[in-house]
Amino acid sequence: MVDWKRLEEKWQKRWVDAGAFEADPDPDRPKYYLTVAYPYPNSPQHIGHGRTYTMTDVHARYRRMQGFNVLFPMAWHYTGTPVIAMVERLKEKDPDLLDTFLNIYNIPEGDLHELETPVGMARYFAQEIKDGMQRMGFSIDWRREFTTVDPYYSRFIEWQFAKLRQRGYITQGSHPVGWCPHCGNPVGQHDTVGDKEPEIEEFTVIKFRRGDMVYPAATLRPETVFGVTNMWLNPKTLYVEVRVDGESWVVSAEAANKLQFMGRKVEVVSEFLGARLIGGTLTNPMTGSEMPILPANFVDPKNATGVVMSVPAHAPFDYVALEQLKKAPKKAFEAYNLKQGDVSKLRPVSIIELPGWGESPAVDIVERMGITEQDDPRLEKATKEVYSQEFHNGRLRGNTGRYAGMPVERAKDAVKEDMIADGEATTMYELIEPVQCRCGSDVIVKIFENQWFIDYGDPAWKELAHENLEMMEIIPRELRQEYVHVIDWLKNKACARNVGLGTRLPWAPEWIIEALSDSTIYMAYYTVVRWLSRLRPDPEALTEQFWDYVFLGSGSPEAVAEATGIPVEDLEGIRREFAYFYPLDARHSGRDLIPNHLTFMIFNHDAVWPREYWPRGIVVNGSVLMEGQKMSKSLRNIIPLAQAIDRFGTDPLRLSLMITAEPLKDADFSPELAKSMADNLDKFHASAMEIISAPSNPCAELTEIDMWMLSRLQGYIRDANEAMTEMKVRKTIHSALYDLNQDLDWYRRRVATQLERGERKLAIRHVLRTVMDAQVRLLTPFTPHLCEEIWEAMGNEGFVAFAPWPEPDGSMVRPEAEELESVVRTSIEDVQKIVQVTGIRPSRIHFYTASTWKWKVYLNALRMAEAGTLDVGTLIRDSFRDEEVKTRTKEVPSFARGVVEDVMRTPAETARRRLGLKLVNESKLLEDAASFFGAEFGCEVTVENESDPWIHDPENRAPRAKPYRPAIYVE
Ligand SMILES: [Zn+2]
Repeated sequence: MVDWKRLEEKWQKRWVDAGAFEADPDPDRPKYYLTVAYPYPNSPQHIGHGRTYTMTDVHARYRRMQGFNVLFPMAWHYTGTPVIAMVERLKEKDPDLLDTFLNIYNIPEGDLHELETPVGMARYFAQEIKDGMQRMGFSIDWRREFTTVDPYYSRFIEWQFAKLRQRGYITQGSHPVGWCPHCGNPVGQHDTVGDKEPEIEEFTVIKFRRGDMVYPAATLRPETVFGVTNMWLNPKTLYVEVRVDGESWVVSAEAANKLQFMGRKVEVVSEFLGARLIGGTLTNPMTGSEMPILPANFVDPKNATGVVMSVPAHAPFDYVALEQLKKAPKKAFEAYNLKQGDVSKLRPVSIIELPGWGESPAVDIVERMGITEQDDPRLEKATKEVYSQEFHNGRLRGNTGRYAGMPVERAKDAVKEDMIADGEATTMYELIEPVQCRCGSDVIVKIFENQWFIDYGDPAWKELAHENLEMMEIIPRELRQEYVHVIDWLKNKACARNVGLGTRLPWAPEWIIEALSDSTIYMAYYTVVRWLSRLRPDPEALTEQFWDYVFLGSGSPEAVAEATGIPVEDLEGIRREFAYFYPLDARHSGRDLIPNHLTFMIFNHDAVWPREYWPRGIVVNGSVLMEGQKMSKSLRNIIPLAQAIDRFGTDPLRLSLMITAEPLKDADFSPELAKSMADNLDKFHASAMEIISAPSNPCAELTEIDMWMLSRLQGYIRDANEAMTEMKVRKTIHSALYDLNQDLDWYRRRVATQLERGERKLAIRHVLRTVMDAQVRLLTPFTPHLCEEIWEAMGNEGFVAFAPWPEPDGSMVRPEAEELESVVRTSIEDVQKIVQVTGIRPSRIHFYTASTWKWKVYLNALRMAEAGTLDVGTLIRDSFRDEEVKTRTKEVPSFARGVVEDVMRTPAETARRRLGLKLVNESKLLEDAASFFGAEFGCEVTVENESDPWIHDPENRAPRAKPYRPAIYVE
């Protein structure tokens, strides 16, 4: 059994002592620079965090073995609300948090006081996370560690913002932001429960009226105003009459509050339950028609204005709600001063023509899907489908006045603009989906006035970002479109806060730059920080001039030396180091950061640097599930990383995090999985030690079966290589471990008797050793500790971490050997099946190989399949041109039919190989393997051709023989 703890400590110490992963510029070697998002140190790590970082380490180790000078650094993100919010919760003695810290992560109670300041907490957890990363064996260059509140880092961020401002990408103004009224701060994805990005949309607010009173209905589809049949209010919630900018409005109480945050003057006149308004009528500002106000519990007073217009022809929710209401009992109507007849006469009014759909698309889809209830979850899907179809393919009908015939895509804006111009509509911002701040309050939209923004909406800047994206390698590649979408969609982003740790805006020092804005180009800072730690300049010396020289190469080193007091040769060294490691080759992160951090990184690099320093690649992965479920405190299924390492060992843990899923999918962890990985690695280790201990001879003569094994090995190396180019780590591990081991088992079976008899020992061991040597190297990125141990035992010099990554050796590829061995393999499986089914203890096994005419038909079929002309009739006709085949008039048709079926199922590559091999002497092949069959089944084996006159075939099995599938008779 492998002693994981001993192995980890041994190799981690050796790597540190040798400075193995400390990367300095080396002009003689190509570099590979990769980074992963630095963590917010606001809690200990659990195994969910392990996946993204392990993936990055696997990538770093893979590139190192390919011969690159790899830089993989790490730092700590102290900035922003994640740390502050956690400190606040701790100081308030939040029972949930205390439970998590004390009982899940086992933080000693005596340590808690250390965590009550932001820096104290950040330092404590940074150390905890760093310990975990070191115990995971991450190949990080720790000399470049820093925090985002270091004075040098602040000078760097000031420079970044100076550049952004000089390029015109910083604006001051009033823009909508996600806002927490409790914290008094804008909130981004990293400030919210569940890390949800607050996505804001501008809604059109249409003014339905009753006399002078305005009932403002918010909608994203203003063009459907022509199809409104009724209005919805929630009878059970509180509405208010308010004075808004000189008008009287009726809105939900929540909406009144929100309108104030959007900069409107709001004065509450009176409040009442929605029930009071049901049964009244309103006037549609576009059509002038009167429509009833109907009750609807689905109206959420927190959403927009709490007043909803109903368009049953084009909104599935409205149609289902209306139909449901029509079926309500009579007394439900009486309670609201409504007449049942007034409701039942309401019919959908279709105003959009959609080719291929019925009169009213919403009615169409609801009926097609059989939806009858408002709470049917499929309504969301139906709504999306109708909206998207109508938006892209719909045209307004004749009942929409001057918009008739206009595509929906255009009518949407036209109707909105015209109504606003006529005073019949206005706009408001609202979140597309509800989001909660980390403090527990609902996030709302606030017009943030006179604030500082990064203008990601700038069209020229977007062009650069698109151009950069074009030239980047995006892994997994399916996600490229998501980035395109985010680049298009991004608008102004508030970049400063008035609380938290971080760097102050250089020109407005009352503001602190927030966490998603001070983390976009810091990959460049890693190349400099090592020098700063050594030179210890006064932070004041790190002026714009200094960074301009270091990062942009502008100005002379002499002048900068003069101004900063940093010697010229050091300045030149820093510049060289940046220019050596930049651009960034790969940025790793979780998939959830595409809508912000990862795209911000692209934008900011493009703003600051010329194209040669733009980032080259992004790799993202999904998260980790625990036994199929999301990890959460309430499910009590969080495993702290430190505990997981103690329990399972680092290498089994790393392998478990990598093996269950390709990057795009969520990985599914379980303790059983980790244990089975440990068993696998134990076996691998034991077999390696056995192979190493026995002598072998690389010059020994190899036989067919040896060539077969070495050829298969090349195939798996090729598969593993292909998979690694897209970080499909699951596939790599499968090739390197499972598939290869299966073939190894087969090989060992095939040579077992030879080994027992002491024949060909040195050759066989040479083959086993060659396979193991490749296997160890293929597994090194995943299980580095175990692989170092085996590599050392093999007598190699130096770390396997720097051994060359295996490449397939074309001279060892033997497609024919593989094809022929497959005959032996299927034959033995066939015999096993017969033995199992009949329960016979075999005394003799007969193999009958196919006669020549069958081969002729078979090869004909392969040829026709390749040409794409295979069909039974032609095959029979063509085959009959052969004199020998012609003599088999009776047998050929049915045989040909079977062959066509077989060939259709044969992979193209196999077919091509078999075509190349032509007629195979299967009898010889099986005779050579006879001793193997004999040993496997403990009996005699005979091989005959079905056309042999002396054939012994009492059960008449021989006619079943086919090429590559001998017939079998077991006595
Ligand atoms: Zn809050």
